[in-house]
Amino acid sequence: MPGRSPRLIQGIGDDGAVVKAGAGRALVVTTDLLVEGIHFLRELSTPYLLGWKALGVNLSDLAAMGCRPEFYTVNLALPDSVTEPYVRELYRGMKRLGDRHGVVLVGGDLSSSMTGLMVSVTAWGHARRRALVYRHGARPGDLIYVSGDLGGSATGLDALKALGDRRRRQVLRAAERAQPPRGRGRWILEAVTKHLAPQPRVGLGAWLGERGLATSLIDLSDGLSSDLLRICEASGVGARLDEAAIPMAESCRRLSRDPLRDALHGGEDYELLFTVSPSKEHALRRFPGLRFSPLRKIGTIERGRRRIRLRTAEGESLPLKPGGYDHFRAAEPA
Ligand SMILES: [Mg+2]
Repeated sequence: MPGRSPRLIQGIGDDGAVVKAGAGRALVVTTDLLVEGIHFLRELSTPYLLGWKALGVNLSDLAAMGCRPEFYTVNLALPDSVTEPYVRELYRGMKRLGDRHGVVLVGGDLSSSMTGLMVSVTAWGHARRRALVYRHGARPGDLIYVSGDLGGSATGLDALKALGDRRRRQVLRAAERAQPPRGRGRWILEAVTKHLAPQPRVGLGAWLGERGLATSLIDLSDGLSSDLLRICEASGVGARLDEAAIPMAESCRRLSRDPLRDALHGGEDYELLFTVSPSKEHALRRFPGLRFSPLRKIGTIERGRRRIRLRTAEGESLPLKPGGYDHFRAAEPA
């Protein structure tokens, strides 16, 4: 059951919890648990990339509150089969990403595990209270924007599963070294890197918050259709998406068996999805990171029922059901 406290601003139900921390300031906390066999398969990643992602998903959640991350802790449950070098690599992956964003490891705990490997990261940061952006602020007429492109992560997971052992090891090594994708395997490497080493949009989240540009904000962990519906439900609005405007990752377009499905429903792209009032739209052009993370308008918030309609390239309007990952409905590991 959710608890009550006079200092609590936002409890369960957003990307992070928000607690009052002094005059006009707030502490934002988020946590995530990765369980072997449920959230990852050890043979489809490397310890370095697993560490990167374990921290990355938390930084993405703080970005989705409009908050810059500052600190994190790590809890590990280690089965016998996990060696000390493996654990060192896991911390190295976290540190590499943490250093990039000035986020510092400050504690944690270790245990042995009778089953699989478990990695749990908790991350937090401080922000001006007025800078924070929640899921519940979208208003009819607001424009829906997304950063980067979509479907790459789902494409990368499928590619990893389809590769033979030798080729997979090569691709994992290249992803670990962040080799620029070139040549024949370019799209596979790009998609796999998106899946295993996502780039949390830390700069964008904080920028949107500090400038008060977004009316609502979420990160894409479960898929566009599922995460947009979360904004709709929290805000009490509907949404219309324009199929032709959905930015599809080039790797998804080229490799996926169903690119539109992966772009609409594929999870773990860790881009930011946000809404902006039409009167503030012009200010988005001043985002300094546009070269690395373009911002694209993909639809409009509408009055009425909390549902999403997709306007197809042919001009038809179809209901879009959430098709992303849902732990309570999931029958098999992702
Ligand atoms: Mg999230």
